[in-house]
This record gives sequence, C-alpha cells and structure tokens, in this order.
Amino acid sequence: MEKPSPTAVKKMADLLRAGAAMLAERCPACGLPLFRLKSGETVCPVHGRVYVVKTDEEASRVTLQGVLEELERNIVSKLAGMRDRIGDGGSELARELIVWLEALERIERLLGRAPPESSK
Ligand SMILES: [Zn+2]
Repeated sequence: MEKPSPTAVKKMADLLRAGAAMLAERCPACGLPLFRLKSGETVCPVHGRVYVVKTDEEASRVTLQGVLEELERNIVSKLAGMRDRIGDGGSELARELIVWLEALERIERLLGRAPPESSK
C-alpha cells in the first residue's frame, strides 16, 4: 500500500478530531481506512463519501427481517382464525394448518429465534 499523502493524513486527523470513527474497512480505490461520521455516513479521507458493499448487505438483511416479521404476524392471525374453525374442520383444515405451521417454523428459524433442527 502507498504511504498516505500529507494531505490525506491531515484529513484523517481532521475526521478524528470531528468525532469520526476509524473503521476496519478500507477504501477500495486508495486503500486508506474509511471513517464513519457522526451522521452515519462512511467516508474516505481522499475520495469523500463511499458506499461500502457490506452496508448494502446489511440493509437488505434488515429488509428481509422486516418482511419475515410481517409474514409471521399474518400467519399467526391466520392460525388464530383456523383455531376457531378447528371444531368442524376436516383433514383439509388439518393439512392447511400443518403447511402454515411449517412456514412459521421456517420464519422463526430464519429470524434466529428457533434453534436449528439438529441441535439435540
Ligand atoms: Zn479513497
């Protein structure tokens, strides 16, 4: 890696003085450490604002979690409705119930709330 220029070193000192945190990630363009500003933005001392791929992955995981939690709520209210029909329901209802419970189980596992099946 190239030695950082005096300008870059000064910029890094300025960022630290402004309360930015030095990150383990490095700028893909110049290899300097990236900094996280108090505002949450990630910047390179030379290139300014950068978008770290890891952040995008985190964002999509947050979205997946939101979707799963919404599905979970919907399935739970569906199950509540089925509970009321279970008295006069036949095997059709039982099959439907199993499908929803399996879906719920997978969601719980994806959300990390249920232990994996092999953990006995
Ligand atoms: Zn850079």
